[in-house]
Amino acid sequence: MKLKVENITKTYGKVVALKDVNLEVGEGEYVVIVGPSGCGKSTLLKVIMGIIEQDEGGKILVDGKDVSNLPPEDRNLGFVFQNILLFPHLTAFENIAYSPIVKDFNLQLRDKLIEELFLFGKVDPWRDKYPEQISSRGIQQKVALMRALATGSKLLLLDEPLCSLDSRVRISLRQEVKKIVKQLQITAIHVTHDQEEAMSIADKIVIMRKGSIVEIGSPEELYYYPKNIFTAYFLGKGNFVPGKIVRRKYKQSAVKCGELVFESASRFELGSDVVVFFRPESVVFERKGYNDYVGKVIEKRFLGRQIEFIIKVGATTFTSRSLRIDAPSLNVGDTVDFHVDEERILVFKFPEEGLESAFKLE
Ligand code: ADP
Ligand code: MG
Repeated sequence: MKLKVENITKTYGKVVALKDVNLEVGEGEYVVIVGPSGCGKSTLLKVIMGIIEQDEGGKILVDGKDVSNLPPEDRNLGFVFQNILLFPHLTAFENIAYSPIVKDFNLQLRDKLIEELFLFGKVDPWRDKYPEQISSRGIQQKVALMRALATGSKLLLLDEPLCSLDSRVRISLRQEVKKIVKQLQITAIHVTHDQEEAMSIADKIVIMRKGSIVEIGSPEELYYYPKNIFTAYFLGKGNFVPGKIVRRKYKQSAVKCGELVFESASRFELGSDVVVFFRPESVVFERKGYNDYVGKVIEKRFLGRQIEFIIKVGATTFTSRSLRIDAPSLNVGDTVDFHVDEERILVFKFPEEGLESAFKLE
C-alpha cells in the first residue's frame, strides 16, 4: 500500500503542530519518523489515521485514493501505540482475532490470517492467556501488534511502540517487528524519538523538527552525509567546529578553525563562515599528510565495545570513537597524532541563528 501526505498543516490556536508536511511512502517501505519530543510526530500519525482533522487544504492519499474525508474505520489502517492497548477480558487469541471478527471476514481467510500471525509472531505459548497473565510487556506489545496486523490492513502506523519497554526487550523487539512487517509485505510508518532505533530498522528515515520535515533519506545517508546541520546533530554524536573558508581550488577547500585547518570538499565561497562536521568514528589515529593534528587526551570513556577519547588541540576539543580492539592504548594526559578522514568531513554554512539555536530541540 502506498501513502501520500500532501500539504498537511495542523494548528491548535497559536500552536502550529504541523506545518505544510509532504511525504511519500512507497509500497512495502518501512519508514521511521524521528524527531524531538513535541515536534508533531504523533499529530502526523493521527492525521493519517483520521482521528485528528487537518487544517483545510491538506490531503491524505492511500494508493492514490483521497481518504482525507473518511473516518478512521474506513481507511483500513492498523495502529500500535506506546501504551499497550489490549482488551483485559479477552485472551491473546481473542484479542488478535477481535478485529477480523468484528470486520466479519470470510471465516476461512480469517483463520488463515490468524494462524499466520501466530506463526510469525511466535506468540503461540500465550494463546489462551489474558493480558494480565502475560508478564512480559514485550509479549503484550507483540500481541497488540498482531492485533493491528489482523485487521488485514496493508499499512501499519506505529507510534513509539517500544517506548515503554526495557532496553533489552526494545532492541530485540524492534528487529522482530520489522521482520514480521516485511514478511507480511506491509508498508509501515514507525514513529520514535530514539535515533538508534530509527537507524537500525528504517529503510528510510524522516527527520522532523518543530512541525516540519527537515530531511528524508536512508540511515547511512543521513548519518554520514546529512544535508541539514540539524540532521547531523540529531542523528548521533558529532564534532562541529566553526571556521572560515580560507582557500579554494576546484571543489577542494580549506577551512580555518582557530589554529586548525581542515581540507575537504565544499561549495562555499572564500571567506564564508562555515561549520566543519564529522562523526567521532572519522577520527583515525595515524598521520596521513593532511587533516593531521597533534592533540592531548583529556578524557577517556569506556563504552563497552567502543572507547571514546576527548582530544584537545589548541582551543578545540574533538570526540573520537573507535572499536576497543582498534583503539590505541592511550591515557588521559597522553599526546596523540591523528587525522580526520577527508571523505567524512562535511562543511555546512554557519547557521544565521547561531549554532545553539540551530540545534535547539524545541
Ligand atoms: P510528538 O508526538 O512529536 O511528541 P505531538 O504531535 O504530540 O508531538 O505534538 C506536537 C505539538 O502540538 C506540541 O507542541 C503539542 O503540545 C501540540 N499539541 C498536540 N496535541 C494538542 C492538543 N490537543 N491541543 C493543543 N496542542 C496540542
Ligand atoms: Mg508523540
